[in-house]
Amino acid sequence: MAAYYSVTMASRTVRLTGWGRIAPTEAELAEPATVAGAARLLENAPAARGVIARGLGRSYNNAAQCAGGMVISTARLNRIIDLDRAAGLATCEAGVSLEQLMVAGLPSGWFVPVSPGTRQVTVGRPIAADVHGKNHHVAGSFARHLRSVDLLLPGAELRTVTEQSDPELFWATAGGMGLTGLIVRAVIQLKRVATSRVRVDTVRTADIDQTMAVLAEHDRRYGYTVAWSDSLARGGNLGRSVITSGDFAGLADLPEAEAGDPFAFRPGARLGLPPGFPPGLVNRYTVALANEAWYRKAPRSRSGEIQAIGTFFHPLDGIRNWNRVYGPGGFRQYQYVLPFGAEAAVRRSFELVSQARAPSFVTVLKRFGAGDEGLLSFPMAGWTLALDFPARTPGLAGLFGSLDRLVVEAGGRVYLAKDSRVPPDVLAEMYPRLAEFRKLRGELDPAGILASDLSRRLGL
Ligand SMILES: Cc1cc2nc3c(=O)[nH]c(=O)nc-3n(C[C@H](O)[C@H](O)[C@H](O)COP(=O)(O)OP(=O)(O)OC[C@H]3O[C@@H](n4cnc5c(N)ncnc54)[C@H](O)[C@@H]3O)c2cc1C
Repeated sequence: MAAYYSVTMASRTVRLTGWGRIAPTEAELAEPATVAGAARLLENAPAARGVIARGLGRSYNNAAQCAGGMVISTARLNRIIDLDRAAGLATCEAGVSLEQLMVAGLPSGWFVPVSPGTRQVTVGRPIAADVHGKNHHVAGSFARHLRSVDLLLPGAELRTVTEQSDPELFWATAGGMGLTGLIVRAVIQLKRVATSRVRVDTVRTADIDQTMAVLAEHDRRYGYTVAWSDSLARGGNLGRSVITSGDFAGLADLPEAEAGDPFAFRPGARLGLPPGFPPGLVNRYTVALANEAWYRKAPRSRSGEIQAIGTFFHPLDGIRNWNRVYGPGGFRQYQYVLPFGAEAAVRRSFELVSQARAPSFVTVLKRFGAGDEGLLSFPMAGWTLALDFPARTPGLAGLFGSLDRLVVEAGGRVYLAKDSRVPPDVLAEMYPRLAEFRKLRGELDPAGILASDLSRRLGL
């Protein structure tokens, strides 16, 4: 990241991207250490340039960027203010990472209620994008576990918002991509666990129909479940997958050597890719080989394996900068949800990807439970598929266009936290409550102080 200090020492001009490393833009980056400091920044933000919050920059594209404006990082608002060990209520500043919450909560048997595929995200962000995890079918998304949120509104008024006190603002903020205000604190209900290990069952499936059937059955039996699919498989192998499902282990499930430390959790040092890692290594040939090897290596069926939290929930966190494997061109993610009943469209999406020979390195299929009230919240009851492609893949724009049409026709939507290219008119078809969101934004922020590269592109 190129950085140089500008006239005020409170901020510096930086070039920012999201995790996909595409679409860099420059902004003033400020890192307030107190809520009062954050309020001053908001109060003095010039409306013409805009301001947006940023956590750890793990959204895939430019939701936490503001070209020519100001980005307020919550990196230094990272204190856990209180942890009620009896009730499992965590009161924390918005820059606290989910990893920090795990380190603090696990010794007394508390885990985060919902974890995305990385724990290197801040508390503010799971609220702003209403994130989901492998347990969405039973636990819903992050907002369901949020007791209250302290929000700095565009004029810098600090407001405590709960679902009861102000449902409209609460549900605009959950999933609102930082566009209703700066979240500075939140109270979160953690989840009780008996150990820090997960008891995991693994099943290898032969094709997309079996994958969907096993996922549906596993949703009834397990708290967490997900399928890692081979995006390039075709013909009779289309949609073949490795499905891992599990629940937190009980004390009796642990091997003797581990039973003495049932809540052990050591995030530890993470490996990094070597600096000279060759670019462009992710292509249709290497991904086809990797998918084949990984599918063959998986057991046909295995039950009762005890896995650490990192292995089960955050396998990609083991490599610090894995996003660099895509080379300097970066990568784009496409994630959709389609309602139940649209199984033929799910199958068709696998066909489109494999026919395009587009190498998705990480391909994840899972089922969501009911969605929540968030105006721009992504999850709804149905099938969600996430795909990662090197940004320079030939024909990618055409593939995304075909997927968009499929998604709209089936009554589904794409995930804003991952989006880099959906056309604004298509987005409006996908999010029926978009007009409500825009209206509320207009009332809350008439001068349009809060803005991101994403919001400008989509007119949010
Ligand atoms: C490996 C990997 C796996 C993932 N798996 C999942 C998954 O399973 N489920 C899922 O839902 N997502 C998943 N994601 C996406 C992920 O949830 C988001 O990318 C992540 O939460 C971003 O967090 P962040 O703190 O880096 O936020 P940033 O990228 O910095 O910000 C993202 C958005 O949140 C807003 N925001 C951040 N902090 C605040 C604040 N304090 N106040 C107001 N707005 C704020 C920003 O303005 C921006 O709009 C995954 C991402 C990666 C890299």
